[in-house]
Amino acid sequence: MKTNNQLIVITGASSGFGLEMAKQFANDGYPLLLLARRIEKMETLKLPNTMCRKVDVTNKKDFEAAVREAEAKYGKTDLIVNNAGVMLLGDIATQDVKEWKTMLDVNVMGVMNGMQIVMNDMKERKSGTIINVSSIAGVQPFGNHAAYCASKFGVTGLTRVARGEMSPFNVRVLSIMPGAVKTELLGHTTNQSIIDGYNEWKESVGAVNITAEDVAQTIKYAYELPQSVSLREIVITDTMQDA
Ligand code: NDP
Repeated sequence: MKTNNQLIVITGASSGFGLEMAKQFANDGYPLLLLARRIEKMETLKLPNTMCRKVDVTNKKDFEAAVREAEAKYGKTDLIVNNAGVMLLGDIATQDVKEWKTMLDVNVMGVMNGMQIVMNDMKERKSGTIINVSSIAGVQPFGNHAAYCASKFGVTGLTRVARGEMSPFNVRVLSIMPGAVKTELLGHTTNQSIIDGYNEWKESVGAVNITAEDVAQTIKYAYELPQSVSLREIVITDTMQDA
């Protein structure tokens, strides 16, 4: 069991998985740094022992400044959950290049920024945990997911490499690969027929009951295992999801 007095940094804490993680960790008394662009969504929660900062994870300078500010107040980061992400589904033949770039910047560069900001201190302290939120689309293909899959296969791959580099220092590097879960994620896709198709697919494979709370609880469980135990890769889906 972890002590609950060490700093946890959560990116993308203004909705979905990140917001649920924030509530669950705060409920158990952990000090938190919550990051996202919509700061009001995080501040409204009024969580105790919590600093909220408006940060775009692709801006490494701002990201690092927020982490250092929180560390000055609460001590070094023991866990970072690199959760911020975007999913802009589209047909590779026609999708706007800007959408590909946004996904690769946020989903891959944002994760790498978060890792580099904390990993040297973790190595020095010979302790710490990094949890990167990949996706089931980071291990298998789905239609209209080309750039999203590229970004999430990227997260899966970079996490595997980092795990090898960090394990001699007793630092855990995990990835979680959720299946379809209802959050705000799909809302950013710009093509309505792809949104409709995705929702029909979700119904047809039965991915309707799993919640963001379930995913947050799983991440918290993985973190609270002893430092000597690494749940390297977690694939979590609705029991009924068969794809
Ligand atoms: P949401 O859209 O509900 O949450 C995404 C979060 O990321 C928001 O808090 C958003 O905050 C933040 N975010 C987006 N872009 C940036 C940015 N540039 N800088 C900082 N924060 C940013 O989706 P989910 O909770 O579902 O997604 C969380 C993670 O889980 C993502 O990485 C997603 O790819 C992954 N995932 C989700 C699945 C699902 O079915 N829901 C399945 C598999 C993986 P703001 O806009 O305020 O900046």
